[in-house]
Amino acid sequence: MKARETTKVHDVTVDSIHDFKVCELFYRYRYIDELREPMFSRDLLVQKFENTLYKIASYFFYKKQAGLVPSYRAILNRWEKLWFPKDMTAYDMAVQKNDISTGNLASFSNVATAALETFYEDFASDQRIPVVIAEDFLVPLRKDIRLHGKIDLMLKSNDNVYSIIKWGGRQRKPDRGYLGMDFAALKLAIQHQHGQDAQVDLNLYHLASPKNSFLEIEQPQQSDLNGLLYWANKVGDTQIHIPRRGYTTYCKTCPFDEECSKFDGWPQSNIEIG
Ligand code: SF4
Repeated sequence: MKARETTKVHDVTVDSIHDFKVCELFYRYRYIDELREPMFSRDLLVQKFENTLYKIASYFFYKKQAGLVPSYRAILNRWEKLWFPKDMTAYDMAVQKNDISTGNLASFSNVATAALETFYEDFASDQRIPVVIAEDFLVPLRKDIRLHGKIDLMLKSNDNVYSIIKWGGRQRKPDRGYLGMDFAALKLAIQHQHGQDAQVDLNLYHLASPKNSFLEIEQPQQSDLNGLLYWANKVGDTQIHIPRRGYTTYCKTCPFDEECSKFDGWPQSNIEIG
């Protein structure tokens, strides 16, 4: 009996496409080979800081969805419970090195306290209903390519206008190219779920900022979607992932420098070196 052919499915995200655009070999090491990447303690702390803020935002909107608006005090309590280790005392906090660049729990917490106050002021009296909170999406782009992502928050107003809010954390504002692709992916996900005519406006909110947290963004254009699809197809079609050693500044901090320096995966040639 003839063996059934299986199609290799490529699961892509906007982040993985972005990495592919920078360097195909970097993409392969990170997403196909899944090589271990060392992480510095400061990076880990920043990641934990962002994830904790995202959890607080979800907690707030789950409560709102249930008809309860948590007080600012309740949000702060939640923050402290998630952020500080259970056995950390006030004394431990006081004697920790007081420099945010070395990763101080208390100084990160001060930033969060101010930012969450702004968050509370921005959303506590918002009358819109949270209809989607931290929900993953999947859009099939091709038989062998699936686009994954997450809708952080979708609000619905009384007159049925839908707004998506994407949480930002680490950097103030990602560059236009990245953001365009990211928002095109969100729009595609909404159209996949609710039909081609679904109308939604997209917003970026900086969760770690104590002021001006709504960031101005351009709504995604057709060219952003075209770019997203072009690169997703390229990821799916690429068989040999070549290095861009020396052509991208990524190399300076690349965690795969050692593996890359030994790369010998070029297509074999029948012309021999003399
Ligand atoms: S060192 Fe440079 S070329 Fe090599 S995998 Fe990393 S980013 Fe790509």
